[in-house]
Parts: sequence; structure tokens; C-alpha cells
Amino acid sequence: MKKRAVILGAAESGVGAAILARKQGYDVFVSDLGLIKDKYKSELIECHFDFEEGHHTEEKILNADVVIKSPGIPDKAPMIVKLKEKGIQVISEIEFAGRYTSAKKICITGSNGKTTTTLLIYHMFQKAGYNVGLAGNVGQSMAWQVAENNFDYYVIELSSFQLDGMYEFKADIAIMLNITPDHLDRYEYKFQNYIDSKFLIAQNQTEADFFIYCSDDPVVLIEIAKRKPVARCIPFTLGLPPDEGAGVLDNKLIINWEQNIFTMSILDIALQGSHNTYNSMAAGISGMVVNIRSEKIRESLSDFKGVEHRLERFLKVHGIEFINDSKATNINSTWYALESMTQPTVWIVGGIDKGNDYSQLHELVKSKVKAIVCLGTDNSRILEAFKNVGIDMIETQSMEDAVRSAYYLAKNGDTVLLSPACASFDLFENYEDRGRQFKQKVREL
Ligand code: ADP
Repeated sequence: MKKRAVILGAAESGVGAAILARKQGYDVFVSDLGLIKDKYKSELIECHFDFEEGHHTEEKILNADVVIKSPGIPDKAPMIVKLKEKGIQVISEIEFAGRYTSAKKICITGSNGKTTTTLLIYHMFQKAGYNVGLAGNVGQSMAWQVAENNFDYYVIELSSFQLDGMYEFKADIAIMLNITPDHLDRYEYKFQNYIDSKFLIAQNQTEADFFIYCSDDPVVLIEIAKRKPVARCIPFTLGLPPDEGAGVLDNKLIINWEQNIFTMSILDIALQGSHNTYNSMAAGISGMVVNIRSEKIRESLSDFKGVEHRLERFLKVHGIEFINDSKATNINSTWYALESMTQPTVWIVGGIDKGNDYSQLHELVKSKVKAIVCLGTDNSRILEAFKNVGIDMIETQSMEDAVRSAYYLAKNGDTVLLSPACASFDLFENYEDRGRQFKQKVREL
């Protein structure tokens, strides 16, 4: 009898998983508790998949041999609990896809910088002429690509939610960018649970694999000391270059790898700011590991265009530079944004506060920020946190007001930075909507 694969959640990853499962000979059923987007529904109809939306039919789910679930569905969801009680395997789409490809997998995780680093590495591999796919949180579903393409490499962005559903999957190259508290609501408010989940990226690695990590990150360092990964560990740091790994000396990014030394002026790197230097080092090391020529690595690091909503410098109006960092939804990413500012900055901040500790930003605000524009339905915590800094603070509740106020407060040579440190759902659909509205209102000035 055919084995049965049930897919929970019918978006990019779910539909991809359905296509791959069928190709692998499974009887497939797709179930989504919400409404399925038109694009995916027509795909399911066209391919004659058995599917449902708006509810889960237990009898058609609890008889599965394997369940592939969307990373958006928490482990606490009643159907997941039932499946686990019955001992049915519940896995992520990436885990499933990984079972049917022999391509080498470069996997990126961390609390911040995943998308940027993933796209940077993908750009580098493409420039080097490698036959490479892009998967995980960005781009197309990996399962879909495994079903329809034959890549030699995959560059995969892995969130902790994806890692939670991974068991046998092995990263040939794993990159750990950083770990700071985030998404604790999904981890019983225990930071260690979230850390454990991030470190699943190293599970199943062997001595022939690589674990590239930030050795300036105290949490990552403690975990490495505890876990002693078996893979070849390669650090990167803003300190001196290690014998094997990446570092900085005299404003140069240096990577020591086997017999090779890669050097590049920090000023020539497309992505500026120390957080991006980390991302570039991680990308550079993975390039060296797979033998991409130094020339190509240098070229890729210098001509990468960056990613929308991440410290995106998009326009100057009357000598005032506007930067869209709408993706900064936690303190850590905003910390790096402020740190990279070189001109007096009017900072637009606010939204849904996930329990931020703003005191971590005090010193930077004192040295970099000339005025604060709060943008949220409730700005009280921000007003309270910075009231003693002695700079102008304005409260706004729409993007238009925020942009106008910032424009009024800034002068020629200054920067206006949208880096909210908060989620966007109070006034916007999501961070992309917030970033787009920001750019729109600036263009209308
Ligand atoms: P993720 O995919 O992990 O959310 P992104 O690349 O989308 O990461 O960047 C999210 C936010 O974090 C942006 O504001 C970006 O400027 C900032 N950021 C990027 N790289 C890093 C890093 N290495 N450390 C801290 N913050 C970073």
C-alpha cells in the first residue's frame, strides 16, 4: 500500500512538499486551517491534489505515515499534539526535501542577519557559476525545487521554527550568526529552549562538515564549549584574524583558510556596518570552503545590492539621507543600525513592543541620535525610556506624520533612520508594508 503524506499548511512550503511527496510515490493530502491563497489553491487544483481549507478533518490526518507542517504552526496546536501522541512523525518541509537530494547544503541561522547572509551567499555562488538553489525562509520552497531541479548546492535560511521540525537533516556547512532572545513566546519563555533549537543546525554534522560561527557572541561561545561540535569549527570575529577563520586588521577583512589568505578593505564591502561585516565574513568563509576564487568572493562582497527593508539607503532629500530598516523588529538589530550611523540621526522607532529593554540603546542614542520620532499606537515605554537623554521626542501615529516630523527635525547632512525595534502590527500589515509606506511618504516630501 502507498504511504500517506499529510501536509499541514498550504502556502509555498506546503504546496512544494505536496509536489515532492507525490513524486516520491506518497498518497498526498493537504489541509489548511485557514484560507488558502489563490495562487496556491489553483496549483493544488491543477495538480488534482486532495485538499481542504478552513478546517482539519481528523480521520484524514491521523492516518498519515508522515506529516509535513508549515513552520508557522506551533507545536502546541491541537492537531500537532494529537499527531505526536499517536507517534506520527511531524517534520518540516526542509527536513522532507533534504531526504531526496544529494546536493550540498549551506544553512544559515541566527537571531538576526539570516536573510541578508543567505542572499549574499547565494549571490556569491551564482557569480562563481555554481548550480545553486535558494531556499528556506527566502525564495521558493526547497521541496518544490528538489522535485523539479537538480541543483548541486542549496543555500538555505533556517529559522528556529524550521529547525524544530528537523531530525535527520544534515548541513554540510552550518552558519551560526548570533543568538539573542527572540520569539520566546514559542519557547515557554525559556531562552535556553530557543538556543537549543538554534543549535539543531549542527545536529548530524560529521568531521567532514563545517560549522562557521561568530566568536564575539557570548551565547554562541558558551554553547560551543558545552557541546563541542564535531564538525570543523571556523570562527569569525571583529577582533584579530584567527589562524583559521575571519577577522579584521587595519580596516581589512582577512580570512585565513588552509593555505589561502583572503584580504579586502572594509570600505569596499557593499554592506556597511559592523553587523554586516559579520555577515560578509560568514559568507566569505563559506565561499573559501567550497573553493570559490578570492577574486569572485571579493567581487560578490562588493557588488551585492543588499536586501529591501534592511538598512536600505533609498533616497536623499535636500541633503538628508533616508534609511529604511523596517525589518529591525528587535533591540539587537536596531542596536546595529544605530551603531552604523555616521551622521546626526533622527530615529523613527516604535510599534508593538515585545518586552524590549531599551536601556541597551541608551549610550548609542546619546552619541548618535539628535531626535526621536515615536511611531506606534502606544509610545509610552519609549518616551519613558529616553526622557532623560535630553533630545527632542515627538509622538506620531501615522507614517505620514512620522516622516514629516522627521523631515522637519533633520537638516542638510543628517540621516533619518526608520529602525523600529518593534513589530509592526499595530499600524501596518507587516514590516514590508511599514517599509513601503515609509519610502512612499518620503518620496512625497
Ligand atoms: P533575519 O532574516 O535573521 O531576520 P535580516 O537579514 O532580515 O535577518 O535582518 C534583520 C534585521 O537585522 C535588519 O534590521 C538588519 O539590518 C539587522 N541585521 C542584519 N545582520 C545582522 C547581524 N549580523 N546582527 C545583528 N543585526 C543584523
